[in-house]
Amino acid sequence: MNTAVRIEAPRPGTRGCNDTPAVPADHVLRERGQREVFCGLTGIVWLHRKIQDAFFLVVGSRTCAHLVQSAAGVMIFAEPRFGTAIIDERDLAGLADANAELDRVVTRLLERRPDIKLLFLVGSCPSEVIKLDLSRAAERLSAQFLPQVRVLNYSGSGIETTFTQGEDACLASLVPGLPAAPADAPASLLVVGALPDVVEDQFARLLQQMGIGPVHFLPARRSSGMPAVGPTTRLLLAQPFLADTARALEARGAERLAAPFPFGAEGTTRWLQAAAQAFGIDLAHFEAVVAAPRERALKALDRQRSALSGKRIFFFPDSQLEVPLARFAARELGMTLVEVGTPYLHRQHLADELALLPPGTMLSEGQDVERQLDRCRAARPDLVVCGLGLANPLEAEGITTKWSIELVFSPVHGYEQAADLAGLFARPLDRRLRLAA
Ligand code: SF4
Repeated sequence: MNTAVRIEAPRPGTRGCNDTPAVPADHVLRERGQREVFCGLTGIVWLHRKIQDAFFLVVGSRTCAHLVQSAAGVMIFAEPRFGTAIIDERDLAGLADANAELDRVVTRLLERRPDIKLLFLVGSCPSEVIKLDLSRAAERLSAQFLPQVRVLNYSGSGIETTFTQGEDACLASLVPGLPAAPADAPASLLVVGALPDVVEDQFARLLQQMGIGPVHFLPARRSSGMPAVGPTTRLLLAQPFLADTARALEARGAERLAAPFPFGAEGTTRWLQAAAQAFGIDLAHFEAVVAAPRERALKALDRQRSALSGKRIFFFPDSQLEVPLARFAARELGMTLVEVGTPYLHRQHLADELALLPPGTMLSEGQDVERQLDRCRAARPDLVVCGLGLANPLEAEGITTKWSIELVFSPVHGYEQAADLAGLFARPLDRRLRLAA
């Protein structure tokens, strides 16, 4: 596991209209000790389902292969969309030409799989240790295989990252290849973040009913459908962990719409509202479109609230969803926030979320896992949201846990999924009650 943490400081001049952070900097506990997190390879688990003609080739060790396989539930497909090119001892000892071997593996793969149109070379700790330059490899292989196959690269390494940064790095690698939207193109909305297709369809329908369009999603479901970007692109983040992707899109001229994230009825309404405002949609029309699904979500949440209201919840830093989920848990489920830990606190992207947290919320950034465990044990929360590595020991101590990675895998965005999201918090509590009965 990693022992270092990178604190993302806001870059000078990038706070935009949120010059006054809702949570003052000195109210956040910053820790730089040992961390317990997954690496960015985990993102392949949901990304390979999303981009249907892409293949993710991890350039790593047997450990990396095991991680991706077990995180993906060891699915055996006739035509899998991820695999690992194993770096073995000969490569590590510098006895073999790793580039030549990589070229051989890629050539064999692409000959066998003409359905692959986009190939990601995914870097790992071992590829970084032997300083294998995957960006040059991607350029070289793209030159060889274009126009049939584009080859890109990003790092999923666990050195100084947390697991959702894998998606951020993957999407950021797509940005330079996106077509340019002309400066006089009509305004378009770009929703950024890999969403399950069912959720994407729901958002597309609501936005279309409001009269917002054209609407595009990044990533697209197929490599040939990646959206154009330019100065008339309005960018709406669907996930709070896409700092590098947002930066790359903004550098291409896109304008980010500030909003909370679409978790729960309130988060979804405010998120959609940010798009409606940017596109000049009449408030009455907006209300008419969202009224029914919001009502459904609120009714479904009512049923979950009785099990969760008043329960004390502790978030360990892992997915970077912690702040939006804490806001949802506190405001829509009536839960009490003991501590909200996050690997990185991106004050600009989280400004609207931080403003909605209950006053006095204990926020921590980074981790010193032993100290945080001590705080958690002392507080005896009803529910702990944490990574897999901490869940079992805490459960053994009688503390109820929820794996944070499950909150990233599951469809949890939007109105129709609000109660499912609450259910992910309610189920472990229910299980504990039944075990104790
Ligand atoms: S990338 Fe690094 S942290 Fe991730 S599985 Fe491979 S060796 Fe482990």
